[in-house]
Amino acid sequence: RMASPALLMRVVASAYSAAEKAATIVRNVMAAGDLGIVEKTGANDLQTKADRLVQMSICASLARKFPKVTIIGEEELSTDEVTEELIEDGHCEEILKKTCPAQYTGIKEEELVIWVDPLDGTKEYTEGLLDHVTVLIGIAYGGKAIAGVINQPYYNYEAGAGAVLGRTIWGVLGIGAFGFQLTEAPAGKHIVVTTRSHSSALVNDCISALNPDSVIRVGGAGNKIIQLIEGKASAYVFASPGCKKWDTCAPEAILHAVGGKITDIHGNPFQYNKEVKHMNSAGVLAALRNYDYYASRIPDSVKQSLVP
Ligand code: AMP
Ligand code: MG
Ligand code: MG
Repeated sequence: RMASPALLMRVVASAYSAAEKAATIVRNVMAAGDLGIVEKTGANDLQTKADRLVQMSICASLARKFPKVTIIGEEELSTDEVTEELIEDGHCEEILKKTCPAQYTGIKEEELVIWVDPLDGTKEYTEGLLDHVTVLIGIAYGGKAIAGVINQPYYNYEAGAGAVLGRTIWGVLGIGAFGFQLTEAPAGKHIVVTTRSHSSALVNDCISALNPDSVIRVGGAGNKIIQLIEGKASAYVFASPGCKKWDTCAPEAILHAVGGKITDIHGNPFQYNKEVKHMNSAGVLAALRNYDYYASRIPDSVKQSLVP
């Protein structure tokens, strides 16, 4: 008889299914047409009915299966209102068949922290830029992002009828990342991907200092990591506070699982233990390859403006 799968693999397999249910909710809310937009800190910091329902769905579903795991979601909501129809109890069998890396087989529930961004790219969602949107479930152990799931509910939405809508990308350090075709950006070209709706003079000064061949401005931290792993961009550069731990945890695990690197703008790694400050105050710098090239060209003036 096979030993029961390691906790980490069961959590990732369940997070995969929870993210797929989340994607259905994201599409259903948009199709119904009433987004229920609420401003959090201001007009560039929004919450919709989809953010709320998905947060309840993912957090309640994972908490029911893994009651001792710490789950930190972006939205401040009580989970009392969760209805049964929001609960996902399935898991991805294919993930359970993978062998858990030896260093993770002994992990206990109390040692895991799950960072949930129920809908990343909310601003773009409200503006109809639907393929910028992702659902992010990041899994941390010992303060490190070790596994993650990124669902892109509107992947292929401009590909026309017949194309399968939506996809789920997942990864674990030591296993790899799946659900997409790993592609490097064009050699010798410096293509920077950055924010579309949270720019500032510092964000733009930092990009100018890198003298890129081109700049892609799109919403979502999850979406920008997808641009890196699919070869659309060579570096993700965001010299600003604003991005939070739930934005970077799942993307970090997937990027690191395929040999990339993500840090703050100083080169400091992010920490994901449950006590950590949520804000990534010193920005984001990430690349699949040639991280050092970009890190060495961040101006000191930019670094001095961003205190970790
Ligand atoms: P962006 O690249 O602008 O889509 O930002 C990536 C993530 O960080 C999204 O979840 C944003 O909501 C968040 N974010 C970045 N900057 C800000 C900001 N100034 N205020 C609120 N959220 C921000
Ligand atoms: Mg986000
Ligand atoms: Mg969000």
